[in-house]
Amino acid sequence: MTAQFSLEFFPPRTDEGIDKLRAARRQLAQLHPSFCSVTFGAGGSTREGTLATVLEIRGEGIDAAPHISCIGSTVQSLRAVLSQYRESGIRHVVALRGDMPSGTVDAGEFRYANELVEFIRLETGDWFHVDVAAYPEVHPQARSAVEDLAAFKRKVDAGADSAITQYFYHPHAYVDFVNRSRRAGIEIPIYPGIMPITNYEGIVRFSENCGADIPRWMKKHLESLRDDAAGLRAFAIEAVTRLCEELLAAGAPGLHFYTLNRWGATLAICRNLGLVRAAP
Ligand SMILES: Cc1cc2nc3c(=O)[nH]c(=O)nc-3n(C[C@H](O)[C@H](O)[C@H](O)COP(=O)(O)OP(=O)(O)OC[C@H]3O[C@@H](n4cnc5c(N)ncnc54)[C@H](O)[C@@H]3O)c2cc1C
Repeated sequence: MTAQFSLEFFPPRTDEGIDKLRAARRQLAQLHPSFCSVTFGAGGSTREGTLATVLEIRGEGIDAAPHISCIGSTVQSLRAVLSQYRESGIRHVVALRGDMPSGTVDAGEFRYANELVEFIRLETGDWFHVDVAAYPEVHPQARSAVEDLAAFKRKVDAGADSAITQYFYHPHAYVDFVNRSRRAGIEIPIYPGIMPITNYEGIVRFSENCGADIPRWMKKHLESLRDDAAGLRAFAIEAVTRLCEELLAAGAPGLHFYTLNRWGATLAICRNLGLVRAAP
């Protein structure tokens, strides 16, 4: 089976952001991704931007999958989003719970992502290929690793076709998670999410929020290069390339890159991996 490589973007909010994303996509088109996914803000806050970005990517001849998140949403609003996706000919979604903006208390009619997957299957049958999120290093709000795996299994039992993981930098966390998933009877493909690193402060803050552990040796090197942009970039590209190589060697079915709408580091890592190739 050939490995599947995909890219994730967020919907830009300004004209400048739209231009920046278009420029990034032009560069990353060299990778011929299997698909590009586009994130969705809590409570549908980016709904139109998500769809517009997906349609633009599809117009460029690349398959695209919008995310859909359920926290803070109603049955009616999610039904409307699914209809809009379906009417636009979209066949692939990434289904998430999402995070409540701080200070918000009304979780809406869906509490967890398995309820959203169930709803998608109930409303639209097999129309969509449904991806869900998975957490090799355990979701930060999970009561335990065992309960988090059980939550993942509920999403799969509700009808998820494949999963994309939160990013991580310990390859063994992924291998162990896949092994535990298989022992729990989860058979769907689990694609590692890869976060290229371009900035010390950004990756440390982001990782603390989402529960991704930066190995001590990596963090120490990044810290010592925090004022040397070129040095940090070279170190991080090398380290993330090695991570990707180890994951593919361990049997990962592909890689999903969190691009943050930038192209340089993702393209450099993919070049190292030999993924820049002529159109299939
Ligand atoms: C690939 C990927 C893409 C993402 N894209 C987006 C996006 O577009 N928009 C966005 O807002 N966020 C996005 N996120 C972030 C995601 O929304 C957050 O990580 C969120 O906190 C959890 O979403 P989930 O779908 O994994 O939730 P769930 O699978 O519902 O899990 C959330 C937490 O609840 C726990 N849990 C589940 N069921 C139960 C239960 N019955 N009882 C008690 N606890 C339970 C789980 O263990 C976990 O701790 C993405 C994350 C990933 C990995």
